[in-house]
Amino acid sequence: VTAPLANPARVDAELSSLAEGAFAFLERLVAEPSVVGREASAQAVVAAELARLGFAVELLEVPESIAADPLAGVPQAAYGARPLVIGRLRGGDGPTLLVNAHIDVVPAGTPELWASPPFSPERRAGWMHGRGAGDMKCGFAMVLLALEALQRTEHAALTGSLIFVSAIEEECGGNGTLASLRAGVHGDAVLLPEPTDLDLLVGGSGVLWCDLAVRGRAGHAHSAEGGANPILACLALGAELATLERDLNDACAEDEEHCVINVGTIEGGDWRSSAPTGARLGVRVGFPAAWDVDRAQRAVCAALDRATSSATWPAGVNVTLTFDGIRAVGYALDPDHPLACSLADAHEAVHGNRPRPYRLASTTDARHYLNECGTPALCYGPRARDIHGIDEAVELTSIVAGARTLTRFIPAFMV
Ligand SMILES: [Zn+2]
Repeated sequence: VTAPLANPARVDAELSSLAEGAFAFLERLVAEPSVVGREASAQAVVAAELARLGFAVELLEVPESIAADPLAGVPQAAYGARPLVIGRLRGGDGPTLLVNAHIDVVPAGTPELWASPPFSPERRAGWMHGRGAGDMKCGFAMVLLALEALQRTEHAALTGSLIFVSAIEEECGGNGTLASLRAGVHGDAVLLPEPTDLDLLVGGSGVLWCDLAVRGRAGHAHSAEGGANPILACLALGAELATLERDLNDACAEDEEHCVINVGTIEGGDWRSSAPTGARLGVRVGFPAAWDVDRAQRAVCAALDRATSSATWPAGVNVTLTFDGIRAVGYALDPDHPLACSLADAHEAVHGNRPRPYRLASTTDARHYLNECGTPALCYGPRARDIHGIDEAVELTSIVAGARTLTRFIPAFMV
């Protein structure tokens, strides 16, 4: 498919001249620390940019009742004053492309380890650093840069409609995007501009969050019974989770599939010479794409039973397991689907190489569109490094390179 552009060179020149504005928009987004519960100020930046580009903008609140939806994760905070931003740009009678990007970012970790403050975006050697610069605020900049260049040079090629969804809670449950679907926000296909290094991310694993609350009996260290200590019990649980991870990987159907169990948080104790009353592990379990959530939950429960019934488990120590966040099943788009092919064609037309389709041992909101609606969805976006880590960054030229692909892809899609 050749994109029906009247003057591709003019589009490319426009992208170059608009790039600085796109980077400045990205800086404004990164400067808003949109961790869970605090998304509103970043959403205001998105809404203003969409309005500037001619979108009709709506703020969509997530209803608290979303918690009862079978596809929902467990909400992480009350939903008041945490709207999604929905932008609609009406073109001709052509198909509607829905762009879904998540505004939420994960916490900055240890800010003093960053070379520059995580929410003060800083450019160094062609990369913009900051929490969310890579995952995934750069994607907002990439898509809107492409759109503005098309609006200024090839308006006649925008023969379909564009819907932009700026979601919340992608990192912890997916309830933002789910709420937009339940509110009837649909397109004919979905592009999620996650950081994919300009390759095509077409699938992900199941993901489940668990809380393991361990209770023991507090007392002076000199009278603590050997091993009857919730923190030591957590170490035993960690060993059992490593066994579970091996079992889950053995259950994977396909060679390239991969399951990861991550212990992300640990709490417990308040004094070195006291046996603690309790301790707590926060765990993220990746599970095979062919499994449903119930099966994954049963596997976690069985692993816990094995740990607590083993001969070495300390007497008097109990564990309460709750599934308290994301409950995502796996998803996949056929890499030969016409949507993937047409995006790959657009990429190849401007960059000369074919992007690689791949899957990750994690999830994205693409699963909602694919699994619930059968709407084709895939991720394509800039080159990022250290996402969820220290000194997260995005390569600025990759934002423009991705936008260049989209200036060919969007008109071809809308034909
Ligand atoms: Zn992301």
